[in-house]
Amino acid sequence: DAKQQGRNTWHWYQGDVQRITEESVLLRHDLYAALSRDQFELYYQPIVEAENGHIRGLEALIRWHHPEKGMISPGVFIPLAEQTGQIIPLGRWILHRACRDAAAMCATGERVVPVAVNISSLQFRRTGFLADVEQALTESGLPPELLELEVTESILLDGVDHAVELINQLKSKGIKVALDDFGTGFSSLSYLRDLPIHKVKLDRSFIHDIADNRNSAAIVQGIITMAHHLELVVVAEGIEEREQQQDLKRRQCDLVQGFYFAKPMPQNAIVALPGQLPAPVGL
Ligand code: C2E
Ligand code: MG
Ligand code: MG
Ligand code: MG
Repeated sequence: DAKQQGRNTWHWYQGDVQRITEESVLLRHDLYAALSRDQFELYYQPIVEAENGHIRGLEALIRWHHPEKGMISPGVFIPLAEQTGQIIPLGRWILHRACRDAAAMCATGERVVPVAVNISSLQFRRTGFLADVEQALTESGLPPELLELEVTESILLDGVDHAVELINQLKSKGIKVALDDFGTGFSSLSYLRDLPIHKVKLDRSFIHDIADNRNSAAIVQGIITMAHHLELVVVAEGIEEREQQQDLKRRQCDLVQGFYFAKPMPQNAIVALPGQLPAPVGL
């Protein structure tokens, strides 16, 4: 009967929650050793000019090679690292690694484009963040103009004043800040008004159905137009198909990024790409 069914459903649900919880307890534990055991790697995904496909930037995306579980997605372990505070040493490692990789690609002339590093809001809001960024630049020798930080609106949890001040300090050193995942969460137009950012990244949920959802298409067009009036650069994330690329190009989006051009890949694969994407098949 329904009652019996309800009870079974509940039992199944409880078991599932328990399994997920145990799993994250184990992963959280493994995270502690992962940094010293050298299990992290930075992948890079090209960001290209919508107009012509020229590579204009690289986004650093972390990968965890777990010894038993294989590759674990940052969508899973970044929130765990935030819960344990591990995000602080991990975030510092990411900054240093990305700056060193970018400086190396510059030195050889293989790829002289800005590197974009995702910054957890915990990391961003912590005292000493600016010093960490400066240290990563000094140690690597990367020019500040080639570093971009991607933040989300959760940096505003301590209020807008602190964020504005920090972004201005970064800006005065030549480091650019992009607002990631724009259009999701609690995105407010006041953020675009108040934050001295350089770029907005349109969340891929809008790009996904741009061809068959008139509302998504209207929102995308509206954000692009508004961003240009605010003198911001606009990037669209998650382009998977040629039609989406053409649509965004037609709508005057500046930059695009997605599997259609290239998936995130190790640095050695990045330097082997041609300067313009999509790469011919078989490359
Ligand atoms: P994000 O910063 O918005 O990064 C974009 C995500 O979309 C990446 O997932 C990327 O692989 C994926 N993506 C790119 N193009 C496409 C596409 O065409 N289709 C689809 N379906 N997906 C696409 P990833 O690497 O799994 O990272 C997920 C999230 O984890 C990132 O979202 C970011 O919030 C966080 N993250 C990744 N690396 C780092 C990091 O080094 N530090 C911090 N703090 N967070 C990171
Ligand atoms: Mg990002
Ligand atoms: Mg994003
Ligand atoms: Mg995201």
